Amino acid sequence: MLISAAESLQSACSLIVPIRRRTRPLLSFNSISSSSSPSSVRCCSSSLPLRPIRYAVLGAGFAGLSVAWHLLKHSPIDLHLTVDIFDESGIGCGASGVAGGLLHPYSPKVKLLWQGDNCWKECLKLLSIAEAAAEFRKSTPGAHEFSIGEIIHRRGILRPAMDAKSLEILTKNAESCLPSCRIESIDKEAAETLVPNIHIPFKSLFYMPEALNVHPLSYLQALFMACENLVKETSTSGSYKKELHLHKRSVNQLTDLAEEYDAVVICIGAKADFLPELAGKLPLRMCRGVIAHVQLPDHVKECYPDHSPSILSDAWLAVQGPRDLLVGSTWDWKSRNPSREVTAEEASQAVDELIPKASTIYPKIKDWTFVKARAGLRAMPPLTSQGSLPLLGSVDHLLDSNRNCRYWFFGGLGARGLLYHALLGKLMAQAVLQGDDSILPSELTSWKKIKS
Ligand SMILES: Cc1cc2nc3c(=O)[nH]c(=O)nc-3n(C[C@H](O)[C@H](O)[C@H](O)COP(=O)(O)OP(=O)(O)OC[C@H]3O[C@@H](n4cnc5c(N)ncnc54)[C@H](O)[C@@H]3O)c2cc1C
Repeated sequence: MLISAAESLQSACSLIVPIRRRTRPLLSFNSISSSSSPSSVRCCSSSLPLRPIRYAVLGAGFAGLSVAWHLLKHSPIDLHLTVDIFDESGIGCGASGVAGGLLHPYSPKVKLLWQGDNCWKECLKLLSIAEAAAEFRKSTPGAHEFSIGEIIHRRGILRPAMDAKSLEILTKNAESCLPSCRIESIDKEAAETLVPNIHIPFKSLFYMPEALNVHPLSYLQALFMACENLVKETSTSGSYKKELHLHKRSVNQLTDLAEEYDAVVICIGAKADFLPELAGKLPLRMCRGVIAHVQLPDHVKECYPDHSPSILSDAWLAVQGPRDLLVGSTWDWKSRNPSREVTAEEASQAVDELIPKASTIYPKIKDWTFVKARAGLRAMPPLTSQGSLPLLGSVDHLLDSNRNCRYWFFGGLGARGLLYHALLGKLMAQAVLQGDDSILPSELTSWKKIKS
């Protein structure tokens, strides 16, 4: 049964999920220790409590950590649950860690995206949970070495109109903006007050004062801390407990996990298409993006003011600090290279492409010095009538697997991972906990009918 987005989103908002059916009967197993390898964590005794439900989450980017948090948060309080996160390189080492972190619920033409209101709300919620976890960690005696940097720069985003046509479209779309993420049309003078030395391509600009600039790595580290805190809270509250383990390990074959887990949630971004069981079966296109980090040399006094917004134009400028900017991003549809590392040649090509684009709106960018480039591989989903929507759902039909373990896919977050990850991670967790992908909005599962 496919249900509408509105129905499933309504149920997602009141998540205390009953386990309707277990993917396999509970056995008399018990978990031994958090440091055990996944293959050694069970022992058998009929007198021990029931074996925990075990979920594997593959990938510790936006998708994987959101799913892990929601699984821990919304599983029944009396359920003995183990969540194992596997990441080949660690937290935020895929596309999420290199994202520019620009966050708002609109398309480049400032049209509200699919479920933009709910996505925005859920994202703000998860960001504040991560911020609270980071604050809590800072205040814990002896935990200073784990303290993390600023998670959110609250400075808004500017979107210029480039010509008469774009001004007309942006003006119309901005009329339907959310009250919680306003879009204000501002004139040249107001724009120059916001960003000194800005160049206005055409008459007016659109200012989103509540839009955010997230520091993705700090955010993901803090979200993982929030997961750890949830586990600590539940373990002190009753006889059943939750467990969370992060394994820095590559999973090269999905079916290897079938014996160990009740469910495996695949959140490995573009690299899903590198897994033997899924290769060529997902309707995803790869697109590599390079970002340039630029800094103001010491001899230049006039820096980017604290209150000035980031800028979203043909190239975007994500402000990291008064003397630090990220300029992005390139779109290489021919590359399947997932590496974060950028060769000198690729970096130089990216700079040659990005800096002229950025200078049409912020000519002073030419005074800034290139420091470093980094890259990521986007997993782009197909375009639908609702836009490019991520892919969710059970993928048991794609795997010749042991039926006791269910496999789920959450990917294709495209260039919008930050906006989508919180709400869709919640929906994904709900579907996994219930063992039922018909509760997902049909817009997110209809990709299964497409031939890749
Ligand atoms: C240059 C660039 C700029 C971007 N800017 C923005 C932006 O400003 N705002 C925005 O919303 N989005 C942005 N995006 C898009 C965003 O980064 C992605 O949508 C998002 O990161 C996808 O998240 P994910 O968790 O699905 O995948 P990933 O972040 O790629 O996470 C996958 C994880 O899985 C791990 N992994 C991979 N294979 C395996 C394996 N076999 N076994 C175990 N672990 C594995 C990886 O190490 C990685 O940590 C940008 C993307 C790029 C490339």
